[in-house]
Amino acid sequence: MFKKPSAIIYLTVALTMTILLTFVYRASSPEVPFVSYTQFKKWAGAGQVSHVLFRDNLIEIDLTEPLVVTAAGGQSQKAQTNVPNLDDPALFPLLETHGVVIESHPVEEGSGSYLLAFLPWILILGVYYWLMRRSIGGLGGRMNNELGGRRPFDFLSGSAHSDTGVRSKVTFEDVAGQDSAKKEVVELVQFLQTPEMYRKLGAEPPRGVLLMGPPGTGKTLLARALAGEAGVPFFSISASEFIEMFVGVGASRVRAMFEEAKKRAPSIIFIDELDSIGRIRGTGLGGGHDEREQTLNQILSELDGFSGHEAVIVLAATNRPDVLDPALLRPGRFDRHVTLELPDRDARLAILKVHTRKVPLASDVDLSAIAASTPGFSGADLKNLANEAAMSAARRGANDANMNDLDSMRDKVMMGTVRTLAVQPDERHRLAVHEAGHTAVAHHLPNADPLYKVTIIPRGRSLGGTHMLPDRERYTLPEDYLRDRLVVMLGGRVAEKLLLGTVSSGADDDIREATKLARAMVSRWGMDEDIGPVDVRQSDDHPFLGREIAQPRHFSDGTAEKVDQAVQALLKDSEERANALLIKHLNAVKRLVETLEKRETLDSKEIRICLDGGADVIALKPDHAHGKPTDP
Ligand code: ATP
Repeated sequence: MFKKPSAIIYLTVALTMTILLTFVYRASSPEVPFVSYTQFKKWAGAGQVSHVLFRDNLIEIDLTEPLVVTAAGGQSQKAQTNVPNLDDPALFPLLETHGVVIESHPVEEGSGSYLLAFLPWILILGVYYWLMRRSIGGLGGRMNNELGGRRPFDFLSGSAHSDTGVRSKVTFEDVAGQDSAKKEVVELVQFLQTPEMYRKLGAEPPRGVLLMGPPGTGKTLLARALAGEAGVPFFSISASEFIEMFVGVGASRVRAMFEEAKKRAPSIIFIDELDSIGRIRGTGLGGGHDEREQTLNQILSELDGFSGHEAVIVLAATNRPDVLDPALLRPGRFDRHVTLELPDRDARLAILKVHTRKVPLASDVDLSAIAASTPGFSGADLKNLANEAAMSAARRGANDANMNDLDSMRDKVMMGTVRTLAVQPDERHRLAVHEAGHTAVAHHLPNADPLYKVTIIPRGRSLGGTHMLPDRERYTLPEDYLRDRLVVMLGGRVAEKLLLGTVSSGADDDIREATKLARAMVSRWGMDEDIGPVDVRQSDDHPFLGREIAQPRHFSDGTAEKVDQAVQALLKDSEERANALLIKHLNAVKRLVETLEKRETLDSKEIRICLDGGADVIALKPDHAHGKPTDP
């Protein structure tokens, strides 16, 4: 197996080349005979010198006739000599008077100067080499491992030089939940194991399978599990690694990878982040990138080039199927689509079990409570949570991870890391008022998500936060739920106005999110009576940049104005509802502000006690600080 050559080897090769070049250079320079200074003067005195050229102390001499005998025994009309560099003006006349032969030699030019002459070339070569290595870096890194090693410049030959495709050890057991996705790929295992059976019946084997789903839902994991179950080599690369600065390099890599996979068939090729090269072509959006298009074309032609006899399945993953070029999705290419969803409560529990297999857990750990309190978490988030909890236990020097480790790590993933900020008392008071506003409103609204925690400790990007956890998976959002959500969003600002008389910039995020939601309700979901069920959205998610851009408007100015008014009215109405609720429960809100300032963080139970006027929460011990979100 080819190992990465070290920098020392590169240096040795570069030096050897330099020395060789030095010798070649010297050998190719014609040798001009060297004569004594006295001889030169004699020729000059006899009128036999036609031309001299001074280079410091060196004189290059052109003679009128070939008077010099060369080392090889020939004759030359050229010679050179060196003028002695002595300060005593009396010396030369003295020597000449006595007929002494004067000779002088230039200081020998060491090979250092030759090396210096070649230095720019070495540097140019070095930079070129570095660029080349960078350009194959992606494959050089990942495919070194997975295709068994690539050497520099291999892409020029178009060969992947693979000697081992990775044999995946992952199986379907390692993929928790995602039952329907697993069901869809199970058939492929059989095809990879016994392709003849399918061919005998004239069945056209599947070529491309597109795995779609939000980040971290296990697309790569499922592809690996498929290879593991079928026991076939697994070739994997991220599509973004194909894109390099030299046009055509990506295409040559695609060719190399497909060639290698075909040689090792049955096998699986997995292309991650397909959307990075497979976006709709020719839109002008996202840049007309030649390299990207060539690479994409190469993938398409490789898929078309399957004769039907190769048992090679190409799996590709994307988070953005909506931006893919339709050419990729047509029959015969990535025509099988497998969707992976964010895990529901049961799947979250199953994923937590998979990732805590090797983590010793204390007896108080209730994984189902963690699963219940982590809606919206992906498989990757849950894996991270389990790992962070194990690390937290290790930091404590404990032998096992307890519920507190898991709880605090969940909060870290959900709310961000605790920050130490010197918040002034008046600002802290405003913060408590703001959060109490959100909390109180959420507590009293029938359709709001259950409260989980409220805090005025700066975490992540925010100074404080009111956190709610949905008690069930929601696939559609009902209007009354959305309306209550708007009221909760504006509750913080309304509380500031009510209790402090002024508002602050702290509501920036709330106002932005509330406006976005209200606009979607009015312009996309037909939730305004006057506007009705008409799609009047003014912008759309940008398919490539992942943000909104304005779309050409297909409705009148009058309608646009009506939409603006409806959005405004919806937000004003939400503000009024929040105001009415807070006035109704003003004493409880004040109690919550005071408690929050003293305790900084309150869980769902404490919030309930405080707002419903039960026991004095400040006096309560925070023994249930990591309370479950849906306590009865
Ligand atoms: P991306 O779109 O960001 O590339 P992905 O969908 O390919 O993400 P993976 O890389 O497969 O996600 O998953 C990330 C990590 O999350 C993996 O290490 C895997 O162990 C874990 N994970 C994700 N889903 C599951 C699952 N269903 N069961 C067990 N582990 C999972």
